[in-house]
Amino acid sequence: MKTSVIGFPRIGKNRELKFASERYFKNEINETVLEGVAKELRTYGLQKQKEAGISFISSNDFSFYDNVLDTAFLFNVVPARYKELGLSELGTYFALARGYQGEEGNVKALALKKWFNTNYHYLVPEIDDDTEIKLVGDKPIKEYKEAKELGIETKTSLIGPFTFLKLAKYTGAKKAEDFSEKLTAEYIKLISALGEAGAEWIQFEEPYLVRDIDEKNLSLFKKIYEAILGDKGNVKILLQTYFGDIRDVYDEVTALSFDGIGLDFIEGRKTLELLKTKGFPKDKLLFAGVVNGKNIWKNNYAKTLDLLKEIKGIVPANEDGSSNVVVGTSCSLLLVPYTLESETKLSEDYTKHFAFAEEKLVELSELSKLSDYADKSNVAAIDTFKKNQALFTGRVNSRDDAVLNRVANISDSDYTRLPEFNEREKLQKARLGLPLFPTTTIGSFPQTADVRKNRQLFRKGEITRDEYISFNKNKIKECIALQEEIGLDVIVHGEFERNDMVEYFGEHLSGYVFTEKAWVQSYGTRCVKPPIIWGDVSRKEPITVEWSKYAKSCTDKPVKGMLTGPVTILNWSFPREDISIKESTLQIALAIRDEVLDLEANGIDIIQIDEAALREKLPLRKSDWYSEYLDWAIPAFRLVHSGVKPETQIHTHMCYSEFTDIIPAIDAMDADVITFEASRSDLQILDSLKENNFKTEVGPGVYDIHSPRVPSVDEIVTALTKMRDKIEDSKLWVNPDCGLKTRGDVETKASLINLVEAAKIIRNTPV
Ligand code: GLN
Ligand code: ZN
Repeated sequence: MKTSVIGFPRIGKNRELKFASERYFKNEINETVLEGVAKELRTYGLQKQKEAGISFISSNDFSFYDNVLDTAFLFNVVPARYKELGLSELGTYFALARGYQGEEGNVKALALKKWFNTNYHYLVPEIDDDTEIKLVGDKPIKEYKEAKELGIETKTSLIGPFTFLKLAKYTGAKKAEDFSEKLTAEYIKLISALGEAGAEWIQFEEPYLVRDIDEKNLSLFKKIYEAILGDKGNVKILLQTYFGDIRDVYDEVTALSFDGIGLDFIEGRKTLELLKTKGFPKDKLLFAGVVNGKNIWKNNYAKTLDLLKEIKGIVPANEDGSSNVVVGTSCSLLLVPYTLESETKLSEDYTKHFAFAEEKLVELSELSKLSDYADKSNVAAIDTFKKNQALFTGRVNSRDDAVLNRVANISDSDYTRLPEFNEREKLQKARLGLPLFPTTTIGSFPQTADVRKNRQLFRKGEITRDEYISFNKNKIKECIALQEEIGLDVIVHGEFERNDMVEYFGEHLSGYVFTEKAWVQSYGTRCVKPPIIWGDVSRKEPITVEWSKYAKSCTDKPVKGMLTGPVTILNWSFPREDISIKESTLQIALAIRDEVLDLEANGIDIIQIDEAALREKLPLRKSDWYSEYLDWAIPAFRLVHSGVKPETQIHTHMCYSEFTDIIPAIDAMDADVITFEASRSDLQILDSLKENNFKTEVGPGVYDIHSPRVPSVDEIVTALTKMRDKIEDSKLWVNPDCGLKTRGDVETKASLINLVEAAKIIRNTPV
């Protein structure tokens, strides 16, 4: 059997691309040097795949920033304001990606959005009514030829025109349909140029097909691909889908004359069923995504071989008996780290259970061989199989009976906080005695160089624990004095002890494992290193209690305790595969519940439980939203706080205000106050709150903390005035839209002074 990889990581084992790009941005290296680093990284990936014997290797999966941006750039989808800067080609490219400030002009970057249900972000192409779509670049051809020179025949990876058009933002009256013909024609030119360069296969990536597809979108898709397939010459076209199944379009896709179809058997819950009930056409390759491109666990060969056997039984073989099934990854390997070889500190007891990108290449090749054998002989006797299966007979320290018992004993009432919100609201108002429009922040204060230095020194063992703690306590004291001076009503401690809102908690939980170099690209040069949920999770020790207690001792004002919620902790970790993510989340919820109760017992009357990433794992199909996710994720959040007294006020915070469509679910989290990012959106969420009779008190962010700009008092008053139209005065809070950790001290103070001033003005302004 043949093997295929959809795409390979590109940031570099040691984040070489990140560091080189950052040096390029600072003018420390020129374009040629940067291009040199890029070429080395591409070569490395291609050669690794070649060594592993992968049959279908992608080229053009490299990107200096993002593949969707590359596609926009390739087809001249570049708004005039960027072209007008008159920069070099690469300069313009990075201006789109990162914005530009200089003599030539001042432009913001394109919008950044989450790539489907992942924590990778793409740049949203912007199409104006007069955008002239035209093939203006040759990146795919150059990278095809570059691979060829290394002796590697590749399939060219392209974001497909349908997904591209669906992800773009249209600033004028024209929509996707108005541009599809022209874009299709330009893709056809690209196909023919690739064909001339010798390309045999092109991989059209169309992940948008795994969403709900209506008639209109279906006809757009068909129109595009009928044209492409009718005019593709000798080049073979693989339609590659991922992140789910294509239940709405399976019939149409299989009826078209694609040479190969790539389906996801990992996240595509219905993929196998579709295959079984509808069959698969003759003379086409099925690229079967059976090796998980998103997670880091070893593949279970017994299960996968059974699956492959079933698939092979359905997909018609060739006349010579050879199979038309290709063993592949479920999505690009971009979403996992490079290699376990970089993990020198983690014991083999752990690492032997993991497969990062390079180890997954080996899995593909082993699976293809084993599957071939399986057709003839007894696989169970083969060494690679036996070794693999030994990993699935139990893992060291992964299960914890006490945790299992606790989860099993959760009762319905544990998911419900009593008394009901209205009652609690009264009690809390009486107890806290806050003014109307209370002012607060989201938690973190600037993580200045000294704060990071202190943490680093402690980690390296260069200062003692006491020194580390006393530095932070000093910071807390100063931070509180500052907030009192500014006149904020609800005080925070500033979060100086955390670098990351998930890693910090993970480090205090049993069941977590941390890597050294397992970086994954999140956007552009930004990488994240998600911790791994290894086993059953419980709280090892109180986590934040000492810091919050100390903060409380510094002030008479209410201090808000700061925690990260279970759904966010889960969503920003690599989850287990041997139990459901629901079960893991409940375990984490119980651990955080312990912390909540400890904070309360230590006199903290307000506790914020952040769920910044709540939306991240929302299924791509609306019909699955509740049944597959919200129906357990929201109760898991409630489990964290249902045990507190009625007078204790529970806050939560969410980033990315894209939750207009799940307002009832947010209200069902049953927090007392929610703050969220709103300043960059058009405040349309406020209408939705009103329509849905949102009961929870709200603090829609009044200014954007992602920029160093100081908002004026007027501007904040205007924002608050708009909010008062839709939200009752008694429910409105005043706060920035996210934590301040990435900001500097000076702008933070100036902004918060204006925020408090604006709140005072509003208090004296009747509606
Ligand atoms: N409490 C966190 C902070 O203030 C929240 C961060 C976030 O929402 N991403 O930094
Ligand atoms: Zn936030």
